[in-house]
Amino acid sequence: MKKVGMIFAMQEELEEMKNRLELVKEHKIYELTIYECKYESVQCFLVEAGIGKVNSARTTQILISSMEPDYIFNVGVAGSVAKDVKKCDIVIGDKLVQHDFDLTSFGREKGELPTLGKYIYCDNTLLKTAKETKLENSNIFFGTIASGDIFIDSKEMGRKIHEKFDALCVEMEGASIAQVSYLCSVPFLVIRAISDSPYEENNEITFDEFLKQSSETVSKFVLELLKKV
Ligand code: SAH
Repeated sequence: MKKVGMIFAMQEELEEMKNRLELVKEHKIYELTIYECKYESVQCFLVEAGIGKVNSARTTQILISSMEPDYIFNVGVAGSVAKDVKKCDIVIGDKLVQHDFDLTSFGREKGELPTLGKYIYCDNTLLKTAKETKLENSNIFFGTIASGDIFIDSKEMGRKIHEKFDALCVEMEGASIAQVSYLCSVPFLVIRAISDSPYEENNEITFDEFLKQSSETVSKFVLELLKKV
């Protein structure tokens, strides 16, 4: 039986997924609750990490060390910074970058991590499986996801990140989850649905309005993906 660890930043995101699975057991580690669930022949471990790179990195390490998953999925919502990527579309990271990591004073590129480089690449086999997975009435994009400890709410910030990293969307956890998973040699995927679009002119923050709908969409997609892992 394959074991999939799933990390969410927020309760709203986790609940949408958990409600679609069969709950088996709850594990308490520090203040975290890890929900062990079943879906067909897959054993899933769901945890709410909290928002941002520190929370998500720390939770990824705890989840990997305690449950020894075969794969890590980061599931949640994100802001679109690409013109064609609209609300409730799905974005799957083929690579992740920390847009706020800056050692440019030392001649490095923005986002470049010493020894690891600028981008952390998602697992090729999982990407291939994701490319074969469809969800009715949903557009699915593959590309760069940029993470940082900042909510991107302006066209200007969104445009800069899009141009510098060729990013499709922004969020606050994916790159740190990718980094920890990579360092632990656990194949991972970052799967997001769009809740807001900071690239848009006169962008209104639609995050709260679209949180439920985008969380629902991404959970449905992950359910389809679980049938194939
Ligand atoms: N409502 C929360 C804050 C949400 S932060 C509170 O104050 O308690 C936004 C969350 O959604 C993060 O987990 C991030 O990964 C994702 N996200 C969605 N749109 C985003 C955007 N435009 N910029 C950065 N992160 C975004």
